[in-house]
Amino acid sequence: VKATNDEEAAARVTAVDADTGAPTIFDKIIAKEIPSSIVYEDDKVLAFRDISSQAPVHVLIIPKFRDGLTQLGKAEQRHGEVLGHLLYAAKLVAEKEGIVDGFRVVINSGPSACQSVYHLHLHVLGGRQMKWPPG
Ligand code: IMP
Repeated sequence: VKATNDEEAAARVTAVDADTGAPTIFDKIIAKEIPSSIVYEDDKVLAFRDISSQAPVHVLIIPKFRDGLTQLGKAEQRHGEVLGHLLYAAKLVAEKEGIVDGFRVVINSGPSACQSVYHLHLHVLGGRQMKWPPG
């Protein structure tokens, strides 16, 4: 599949300096400097539709304060609370989107997983039959 190859190629090219800790596009989304389609928001997390949806429902959930969480692989004990809150928010989003009976949560961590934005995010996918195993 071409799109997958492109994604893999991009991940390889950026692998060396992928996680620089630099601000990402998600900071601009949090600051509402660029528009996004917000599905859910509270004081800790923001959920908005993925610009390149891979399913009828494809929502990203991010912590509003990145606090070093560029990727799940960098998580520390202190992040436990926000990580739990992100997962609970995934359930709230699934409910809101009418897919709570069947949905998938994905976290790509690092270049080998094709992570492209280094601000931790959960993908919530649903609204169609999901396949297993994922690519
Ligand atoms: P990753 O590949 O797991 O890092 O996922 C990053 C996701 O962010 C991809 O699915 C992109 O389509 C999505 N994305 C990138 N920029 C934007 C944006 O400006 N708005 C919404 N989604 C975005």
